[in-house]
Amino acid sequence: MPAQFAPSRLTQNAVSSFNQSGTKSADSLAFAPLSRKSESVDTKELLRQAMAFNESLAKAEQRWLGQLKVVSQLPTTSPAAKNAGISSDYGTRIDPFTHTLVYHQGIDFSVGHGSPIMATGDGVVSKVDVDRNNGQYLEIEYASGFTTRYAHVSSFSVRTGETVKRGQVIAAVRNTGRSTGTHLHYEIRYQGVSINPLQALTQSSQQLASANPAKPR
Ligand SMILES: [Zn+2]
Repeated sequence: MPAQFAPSRLTQNAVSSFNQSGTKSADSLAFAPLSRKSESVDTKELLRQAMAFNESLAKAEQRWLGQLKVVSQLPTTSPAAKNAGISSDYGTRIDPFTHTLVYHQGIDFSVGHGSPIMATGDGVVSKVDVDRNNGQYLEIEYASGFTTRYAHVSSFSVRTGETVKRGQVIAAVRNTGRSTGTHLHYEIRYQGVSINPLQALTQSSQQLASANPAKPR
């Protein structure tokens, strides 16, 4: 039957009532009000549908929050302040000390003495240390399998084992270690393998960086 000729629920109710009594005309019954029983059934059905919809929304929200958490555990923002330039790129370069060809496993941000350094994702500080090459440095581990290293710094704002959030100030730049000038050396590794940090940087990092003043501990 075409949809435009389908009887309404009201009409169906009226016809049903007519057949039971056998005494009233179909025309007059077509406008009879719904019985209390029908209203009750409809209300229950609407409630059931509303609850099912709410349940569906709650599940979608849980999935979304889960995905947000995964994204927050990726080191995708900049560790340096807004407008910080890159003074040395990732890859093969001439070592400024030995003048031989070496592989630079990070990028260098040209930032002034005391500039704040920010965590680039939600993670845990796995190392705060010092050596001849990196000077004072720290590393952060992420549940996603990434690690990041921030070298030639000082004035650490965090300790080993501390949980950090993306954009949180973790240290300040200082010319420590094997360095020809004040800069931040930044590395990213995925499951121990070095990758180019420029591939992970996003525009939003620049905004985050300028919003977090240094609070050295
Ligand atoms: Zn470097």
